[in-house]
Amino acid sequence: MSPPPSLPSLPAVRPIGRVLIVDDNAELVETLRAVIASGVPGLSIATAANGDAALKMAQKGFDVAIVDVKLPDVSGIDLIQPLRVASPFSEVLLLTGFASVDAAIGALRSGAFAFVLKSFRPEELISIVEQALGKVQLKREREELERRYRDLVEVTDVLVFALDNDDKVALMNRKAASMVNIVPDQALGRPFLESWIPKEDRGAMRTALAGTRDGFAVAAHHHHRAYEVETGFVDQSVPSTARRRVRWHLSRSPDPTGLVYGIGIDITERRALEKRAADAEALSAMGELAMNLAHEIRNPLNAAVLQLHLLNRNLDRLDAEEPTRVALKDRVRIVGDEIGRLNRLLTEFLELARPRGIAREPVHLPRLVDEVLDLEGESAKGKGIEIVRQISAEGCVAIGDREKLKQVTINIVVNALEAMKQGGVLTASVRPAGESVVMTFEDNGPGIEPAVLASVFDPFFTTKEAGTGLGLSIVRKIVDQHGGDVVIESERGHGARVTVSIPMGR
Ligand code: ADP
Repeated sequence: MSPPPSLPSLPAVRPIGRVLIVDDNAELVETLRAVIASGVPGLSIATAANGDAALKMAQKGFDVAIVDVKLPDVSGIDLIQPLRVASPFSEVLLLTGFASVDAAIGALRSGAFAFVLKSFRPEELISIVEQALGKVQLKREREELERRYRDLVEVTDVLVFALDNDDKVALMNRKAASMVNIVPDQALGRPFLESWIPKEDRGAMRTALAGTRDGFAVAAHHHHRAYEVETGFVDQSVPSTARRRVRWHLSRSPDPTGLVYGIGIDITERRALEKRAADAEALSAMGELAMNLAHEIRNPLNAAVLQLHLLNRNLDRLDAEEPTRVALKDRVRIVGDEIGRLNRLLTEFLELARPRGIAREPVHLPRLVDEVLDLEGESAKGKGIEIVRQISAEGCVAIGDREKLKQVTINIVVNALEAMKQGGVLTASVRPAGESVVMTFEDNGPGIEPAVLASVFDPFFTTKEAGTGLGLSIVRKIVDQHGGDVVIESERGHGARVTVSIPMGR
């Protein structure tokens, strides 16, 4: 039976109605057949004269078997198990004479539904057969419902778990298990919080679990109470960069097991989108005013740079002791550096805030990346950094804005070089992937802490003393404008990898 494409309102269970009579007494068989057929219309009735034949017939499936305790080749009692295995959710009635009533009673314990005396009254037989058919029908329906629930839990896109009173896993569906890199069976019995909930979220999860458990006791008279909690859900054994956020809906099973069920929805993307929208909004709110301010600051700043330059020249000619002149020039240099930083901040800020459109022209990305790497080659060498190029020239032309894509590349490369203070290797690759060109930049610097990783794209977020925190914000904005994608991955202590993909356009 293939699963239905959608769930109909009623379980589609095969109609119950196949009776198998197993007896070597042909006359009795005919009587049974006649009585049953007249009492329960619409049944299909098959017969077998011995145990061997009965098992063969049973392979075709039956619902209720009526089996003589005394068969030529085998005891009817020994047939109960194999028959029920051959056709699951079936029932067996034993047919017995007075001589073997004791044995038949004993057989109830080994799984027979009931026994019928050979001296049965017709209504009695009919009633027992109907009861047996009813029970089979119920079992089949229940099995079908359970199967559907199981399918629902397994195929659904939501995460499902159940916890016992010690917060150990009693159930975890495939979707949830795969998110933490295990198969569902491996999850059983493991401590849920310690295994998959990040430390910072455990308190919230514990509170919600406790609330769900207590809430039931308190609210049971009114209605079922459920708790909502949002946590990370991660494979803690791998310092992973992909932190999934899940919104859990907790409820306590009303049965005595007291299991707590959690149904979760992966909201990582939703949260990321919300955050991006908020970032964009924050930027546009700063808008015009801030841009004007930035322009206004730039002019006096340029004037200050000029004055500083002159001051430096004057100092060269100053009639003073050498140490004094050096000290003064040092001060001038520091002020110059600071102004330089302010200038950079303004340039980057304007780049980010300006709502200008982008050019759309073919850009040969391998050439562009080569160019940037050549440009930075000197400073890399000075830092003891080796640059490895894995650049394929074939089919790597994207549609976009050459200058802006160059800015993207520079920002990423400079970050990598700045990260590798003790030297290292920067590996840059460019290759086609489907409809996009993919560029990766991998360094083996100190990497990025998970807490930092979550913020690297935020405007003004920086961990550097003289950083502006705008480099990656600009990268993201430009990549977005190109309809592309940028991802940063890092394992603590193992460097960082930035992957940028830019559509090739038609
Ligand atoms: P800035 O470089 O001015 O700090 P960015 O937006 O370019 O601004 O970068 C933000 C932060 O991301 C950096 O301060 C640094 O902490 C982190 N970061 C970026 N790239 C790397 C890298 N390759 N390795 C380690 N940390 C990085």
